[in-house]
Parts: sequence; C-alpha cells; structure tokens
Amino acid sequence: MMIDRSYKSLMEVLASLLLNRSLDFGPVILISFDVESPIDSYIREIDTAKNIGHKNRIGLARLIEAASDYEVPFTLFSTGHALLKECRGHKSVIRIIKRNRKYGFRAGEYVWHLVDPGSNYVESPEFYYGDLIEEAVKFGVSEIASHSFSHIPYSLVDDEVAENDLKRSIEALRLHGIEAFSFAFPFNLAGKFHIFQKHGIKMVRISHRALWAISYRNGTAIVKTHITDFSITSLKHWRKIADLLSKKKTLLSWYLHPVSLYDENMFNLFKEIIKYLKNKEITFLTFRELYDAIQLT
Ligand SMILES: [Zn+2]
Repeated sequence: MMIDRSYKSLMEVLASLLLNRSLDFGPVILISFDVESPIDSYIREIDTAKNIGHKNRIGLARLIEAASDYEVPFTLFSTGHALLKECRGHKSVIRIIKRNRKYGFRAGEYVWHLVDPGSNYVESPEFYYGDLIEEAVKFGVSEIASHSFSHIPYSLVDDEVAENDLKRSIEALRLHGIEAFSFAFPFNLAGKFHIFQKHGIKMVRISHRALWAISYRNGTAIVKTHITDFSITSLKHWRKIADLLSKKKTLLSWYLHPVSLYDENMFNLFKEIIKYLKNKEITFLTFRELYDAIQLT
C-alpha cells in the first residue's frame, strides 16, 4: 500500500503538537533557514555548486523580502563561510573518526572546500552571501546564528576539530557585529554538547527525532524540528497544524533552506502559510527570543 508521505508528515506533526507542553506565552512558531554555501563541505562539482548557489541567492532575497513585508522574524543559521563577502580559499583536510551510513561518511580524511575559488561576492556571487546577510541585518528582522563554519559533521570528528570550527564560525559572525547565541547542527548530526556553553552558545536546534520540543543538555537548551522544508505542501494540512498549534498554545519549529523558496509556487505557499499563522495570532519568535521567553517563565 502506498502511504502519502505528506499525509504521514502531517500525522507526525499533529501527534507531536498534542504531546507538547503548553506555553504561558504561546502559541509560538519558530521559522529558521539553514544558509550554506554550496562549496562548503566536500563537494567536488563546481558547476553543480554554481547552479545551487544561484538559486540560494534568489531564495535568500525572497526570505528577506517576506520577513520585511509580513514583519515576522526568522532565524538564519548560516555557515561562517556563507557569511563572508570574500575569502582567499579555505581548502583543508578534515579527519572523520566515526562513520555515518546516511551521509556516506567513512573513517578517514576528507578534503573540505575543495572547489573554493578564493573569490568574492561580486565575482562569485553564488558562493558568498555576506552582502545579503548585511541586508538581513539592516532590516533587523532576523537572528543570524551559527550553522558551523565549514558544515562539518560535529558528531563524527574529534573535539578539537569541532571546537576550532565553532570558533571560526563565531569570528565570522563578529565580522557582522553579531555575538553567536544559537546553533544548528550540520547534517542534523547532533553531538559535542559539552563544547557550546563555554563559547556562549545557549540554544541548539536538532532533528525531528527528539521527543520533546524543548530539552536541556550540558546547560544548553535544545529545540527539536517538526517540519523540514516543504514536507507538507497542502495549505489545508497547514491550516490543521496552525489550528492545533493555536488551540494547544504550544511550539512549532520549522526549518527550510533558502533554495526551497526558488520555486515560485513554493514561495507563494510560504507566504500563504505565514498569513494564516499571523491571522491565528501565533507569535513568531527567533531562537534567541524563545530562549529569553522560557527564562522569564
Ligand atoms: Zn573560502
């Protein structure tokens, strides 16, 4: 029997919302975007990377437009590399010490940023988004947060590699005058919870497999994901979710990639969902704002 995947996603989200605790200040929607340069990680194909990068920029411009038009905040979890306006090339060797089947990692050395051209946002706009990030900061509609520097799987490398990467990510955020506060795991591979507190990271986002919407580990608050990209494409299903969210006064965490807004139909759907959530008087928060709200109650 064929099971409609979108319907299965809907059922999972509704079940998860029913399980969530009610919030004194709820209902709340957290919308975040994972911003990556397509040359981050161990990608080898520069033409494919350029094509993705071009779509990324259009998606990024659209999400900035939507945040401004509807006056709603988003959290942008960006790799440090994508935050740059220029670089001199970051090719480096990363040692993976733990295998992972899903993403095809074996133990051994990987060359990271292999096709990094060492260029800038004018000559290689597909790979550097520092100019668009500046725009997002200027509109004041977003929290810019960390998605690592190089998109390294933190749980598969040793502590030193993860921590050095985190430090570089924090430095890249400082170039935009931002102190790192929240973090989303590359590949959603969560781990190394003990390194975050000492670097000022107070909130991390993990995958949808977690049971609780909010939990704590090593003094760090952990927020789960309920929906990724457009796993639910029916506006009717989205209305069901928003209605339950509003009734239960709880939390929904939805993350996307800018490239998902490249398709005009998906961008229109995104705007319809935002309008519906706003009409239901659901509060839009960034990760940092949610953290502050939890501390106050
Ligand atoms: Zn670079």
